[in-house]
Amino acid sequence: MNKKAASGSIPVMKRRVFLILLLAALLCGACSRDGGLYKSTREIMGTYVTITAVREGIPEVLVRAGVADGFKEIERVDRLMSTYKPESELSEINRQAGVRPVKADPEVVATIKDSLDVARMTDGAFDPTVGPLVRLWGIGGDKARVPSPDEIKKALILVDYRQVVVDEKAGTVFIKKKGMAIDLGGIAKGYASDLAVKAMEAKGVRGGIVAVAGDLKLFGAREGASLWRIGIQHPREEGALIAKLDATDIATSTSGDYERFFIKDGVRYHHITDPRTGYPAKGLISVTVLAKQSYLADSLATGLFVMGPDKAYAFAQAHTELEVLLVTSEGRILATGRFKGLDIAPVKVEQERPS
Ligand code: ADP
Ligand code: MG
Repeated sequence: MNKKAASGSIPVMKRRVFLILLLAALLCGACSRDGGLYKSTREIMGTYVTITAVREGIPEVLVRAGVADGFKEIERVDRLMSTYKPESELSEINRQAGVRPVKADPEVVATIKDSLDVARMTDGAFDPTVGPLVRLWGIGGDKARVPSPDEIKKALILVDYRQVVVDEKAGTVFIKKKGMAIDLGGIAKGYASDLAVKAMEAKGVRGGIVAVAGDLKLFGAREGASLWRIGIQHPREEGALIAKLDATDIATSTSGDYERFFIKDGVRYHHITDPRTGYPAKGLISVTVLAKQSYLADSLATGLFVMGPDKAYAFAQAHTELEVLLVTSEGRILATGRFKGLDIAPVKVEQERPS
C-alpha cells in the first residue's frame, strides 16, 4: 500500500535552493561592484544557509569571526532542536512525553515557550505539537505518502499545544501525553537567524544578511547604501521573483507549498499541515511575513499559511506591526504594509483536481 502510493508520486522537490541562488545572484551583483561584502554558504538544518557581512568599518579578521560565530549559532540551534537528530535535546523531550519533565538548555526552553505563545496567538493554526502528523506524512523524505483517514485521526489526537508544560524556573519541558511530539521546523530557522545576527553584531559587524532557506534577517547596510535588496521567490515560476524588496533591520520569512511537496493523482501534498484536519493546509500557496524578529516572521508565515486567505488577511490587518504578502490558491494577491506599494508579479495557478 505504502509502496504503491510512493511509486505513483512525483519525487519530492527541493526548491529553496533557487531562492538562495537568486538571493546570491542579487547580492553577488553588489559584491562584484564594490567588493565590500564577505559572503559564505553552508548546509545546515537540512538547507542552505548564506551569511553576508559588510566589510567596511571593522578589521577583516572580525568580519570573518562574526560570520563564523553566526554559523556556530545556527549549528548549535540545529544540534539542540532538530527532530532528525536522536541526540538533540528536543528528541529527548519527545521521548519522555507522558513520562517526565526534561531539563533542557535555556534556549530550547525559550523557543518552546515562544512557539506556544505563537500557537495561542494564532488560535492553534501554528501548533508546535504537529510532530506526529509530520512523521506520518513524511513530506520532504523519500517515504512521503498519503496516510489513511484512520491514521490521520489517530495522529490528530496527539496534536494539542495545550498539553505542553514549560517551567522556566526549573528549566524543564514536559509533554503530558505519550506519543505526542514537538516539531520546531516552523520556528527554529527564524530563531537561529536572530541568534546569528546577534553574534555578528557582538563582533562589531556593521551590517549583513543571514538567510536560512526562506528565513532572512537583515541588519545595517552596505557603505553608501541604506537598505538591502532582497528577492521573494515566485510560487509557481522556478527561479523567478514575485517581488523585490528594499529593507533593513527587519526579518522576512516566506512559507510556500512549492518548497517541499509531492503530487499524487493530480493533488499537491505539501509540508505545512493544518492541525485541525491533519491534511496540508489549503487556500494559500505563499505567505511572506515581515516582522522585527525572525522567529516571529518564521512561525507566523507558517501560521498564516494554515489560516487561509480570509483569516490570515484579517490577522495581518489587526497586527499592524507585521507586513504581509499572501498569494491565494487562485493566484489572488493580498498585501498589507509596504507590500501594498510594491510591484508584484502575476501568479497563474494551474487548478488541481479537488482532493
Ligand atoms: P520551511 O521549513 O520550508 O521554511 P515553514 O517555516 O513554513 O517552512 O515550516 C514548515 C515546517 O514546520 C514543517 O516542515 C513542519 O516541520 C512544521 N509545521 C508544519 N505545519 C505546522 C503547523 N501547523 N504549525 C507549526 N509547525 C508546523
Ligand atoms: Mg515558517
